[in-house]
Amino acid sequence: MVYTDTRNKKVSVDFKTAVINGMNASTGGLYIPVEYPKLPATFTCRTPEPSFREVAFEMAKPYVEGEIPDSDLQGIIQDCYPFLSQVVPIDPVSYVLELFHGPTCAFKDFGARFMARVMSYFNRGENDNLHILVATSGDTGSAVGSAFHNVPGIDVTILYPEGKISALQEKQLSTFTGNVRALRVAGTFDDCQKLVKTAFTDNGLRKKFRLSSANSINISRLLPQSFYYMYSSLVVKNRIPYDSKIDDPAIIVIVPSGNFGNLTSGLIAREMGAPIAGFVAATNSNHTVPDWIASGEYEARPSVPTLSNAMDVGAPSNYERIKAMYTLDEVRSLFASYWTDDEGTLSAIRGCHDKTGYVIDPHGAVAWKAWNDIRLGGMEKLIAGEKGDPSKPGLTPNVPSWGQAVVDKKAVGIILETAHPAKFGSTVVDAIGREPSIPDRLEKVMSLPDRSIPMENDYGKFKEFLTSTF
Ligand SMILES: *Cc1c(COP(=O)(O)O)cnc(C)c1O
Repeated sequence: MVYTDTRNKKVSVDFKTAVINGMNASTGGLYIPVEYPKLPATFTCRTPEPSFREVAFEMAKPYVEGEIPDSDLQGIIQDCYPFLSQVVPIDPVSYVLELFHGPTCAFKDFGARFMARVMSYFNRGENDNLHILVATSGDTGSAVGSAFHNVPGIDVTILYPEGKISALQEKQLSTFTGNVRALRVAGTFDDCQKLVKTAFTDNGLRKKFRLSSANSINISRLLPQSFYYMYSSLVVKNRIPYDSKIDDPAIIVIVPSGNFGNLTSGLIAREMGAPIAGFVAATNSNHTVPDWIASGEYEARPSVPTLSNAMDVGAPSNYERIKAMYTLDEVRSLFASYWTDDEGTLSAIRGCHDKTGYVIDPHGAVAWKAWNDIRLGGMEKLIAGEKGDPSKPGLTPNVPSWGQAVVDKKAVGIILETAHPAKFGSTVVDAIGREPSIPDRLEKVMSLPDRSIPMENDYGKFKEFLTSTF
């Protein structure tokens, strides 16, 4: 596969280059594949549907063609996904897709584990280790640390702001041994990011180390997230004749979004033939993308803190990929977009629990609320011409191509549940009055010794640490 750049269509690199570089430093653009090959109908129409790992293999294959042979790709996928995503029906027309069954209980495990194994694969012939630097405000650090832990040929240093992440998040990234270490920086998340960025532009340091980043703009994190969109839409399509008995339904996926990597992966799955009619882009009070869809003007802004904090992004980096893939009119026809505030998020956790018995986390709750409002009158009002005020929580004024199917009760929704509710226990308690059950792997990590290393907010000290440790 040839990869090009969101800012310069003349750029043409292979998969390895796109993965190791992360982004194109010479243009500031992001790598995207030049095409999204459709899987054959003989595959997507199989009953019963293919397994998750079969889907993963068939979808990954064209993107690594000529660079990773089939047998090695099979091995990588086996090693990435000892866990699966799970489709859980919560009412006849709504399914929750649980993406938290991986080691760190959040959907980022799907992308980070694939990226780690692909990077290790491409580093096989090298004499020196590849050194990954990652700044985190919480969930990315644990997913990346866990994904690279004990992966050969790679060292990882995680930087996080001391005292600014939750106790559970801190345990999840500071208790690794071996090739993954965490620095607790006396500063903010922005300070951590600045230390990492300075290291990347330090030519002296780069001569000593092969440095790479692991952030969510890397194409090797995006591609594997498309696997669960394809898989779950095939599962749901085959279940509908038994659950809701709707003839030829429109399948809508509702995506709680921050950097919009997850939603971009959904677009890739749809291009490749997943039976998905469209999407709902659901955000919290950081509604840069809904505002763009409503007004046509894109305006990045500082982020504001919310209860769904993994979505607190004011300048979503994958906006650039979405814009490279579609025109604004196409986006308005593919997505509904919706946002809610903290009050709405709490009432959604409560409402979902009261109506369905399902305990949902604050991120999934934003998506559940969007779907509930859309199908219980929101879309009907929009089509009747009653548009909401885009500066208030709710739907943006565009009517997506699948809007009428919702009004006609011929649509079903797949709500992405991106984190286990136990990761946000106190918010869930505030909403429903009880703690969610805690998975063993989260409980275990709480009793491990903290191995984080203190670090001043000072580039000289950070560099000294790197050069004296490795
Ligand atoms: C990262 C994250 C998101 C947002 O995903 P994007 O790809 O950045 O849109 C949503 N929920 C959880 C729990 C996350 O960790």
